[in-house]
Amino acid sequence: MKKPVFAANWKMNFGPQETRTYLKTFLDAFPKTDDRTVIIFPSAISLVVAGFALRDRPDILLGVQNIHWEEKGAFTGENSASMARDAGASVALVGHSERRHTFGEGDEITAKKCAAAFKAGLTVVLCVGEKLEERDRNTTQAVVLRQLKAGISRLNSAQIARIAIAYEPVWAIGTGRTATPELAQEMHAFIKSLLDLPVLYGGSVKPENAAELLAQPDVDGALVGGASLEIDYFVAICEAAVRSRS
Ligand code: PEP
Repeated sequence: MKKPVFAANWKMNFGPQETRTYLKTFLDAFPKTDDRTVIIFPSAISLVVAGFALRDRPDILLGVQNIHWEEKGAFTGENSASMARDAGASVALVGHSERRHTFGEGDEITAKKCAAAFKAGLTVVLCVGEKLEERDRNTTQAVVLRQLKAGISRLNSAQIARIAIAYEPVWAIGTGRTATPELAQEMHAFIKSLLDLPVLYGGSVKPENAAELLAQPDVDGALVGGASLEIDYFVAICEAAVRSRS
C-alpha cells in the first residue's frame, strides 16, 4: 500500500489566532500516524504559529502557499523560500491555479519558483491542470505536459525525484464540481507515464467523494482547499481515503 498524502491549502484564511485554534482541535481529532502524510499550507503570516503548534507532530509537514523566486530584495509584500524555511516550512506549493490565473504567473515564473524552493531546502508540490476551454478543445494533455516540463525545467534529477505533483483541473477548483474518479485516474496515469512521482488530486475534494477518488490506483492523495477549512471535513477526508486503500 502506498502512503497517501493529504494536503490542506487554506488559501487566504486563518490568521495566527485562528491557526492556533484550528490546529489544537485538529491535532486532538487526528492522532499521530505513520500510514499517511499530512501537509498544512497556512497563510505565510501564520507559518510560525503553525510550526509551533506542530512541533511534536513530525507526521505533519508545514508548507508555504507561495514564494518569490528571488532570495531577497525590493519585492514589497513577497516572501522568499529561505524566509519560509526559516519560519518552519519544508514544502512549497508552486503553480497553483490561483497563482497562474488570478495573478498571471506563467510557466517561466513557476520554473523559477521550483528552483528557488530547492535552493532554500524546501521540497515542492507542483500544481498542474487545464482550464475548461482547454479541456473542451481537447488540449488537456498538451497543457499538463507543458506545465510539467516547465515546472521541472530548472531542477536536477535528484530534485525532481523529491517533488509531488497535484493534478487540479481548474474547472473543479472551488466550484463544487469534482472530476469523476475515472477522469482523475486517466490524467494521473498520464502524468505518471511521464514522471514516476506521487500525484495528488485537487478540485472540490470533500468527505463524500474522497474515498472514491483515492480508490483509483494512480491517485496518491488529495490537495484540499475549501473543505480543509472545516476540521471535521479534513479529518474525514484523510480517514475515508485511508480506509478505501486498506
Ligand atoms: C485548491 O485550492 O487547491 C483546491 C483544490 O481547492 P478546492 O478544494 O476548494 O477546490
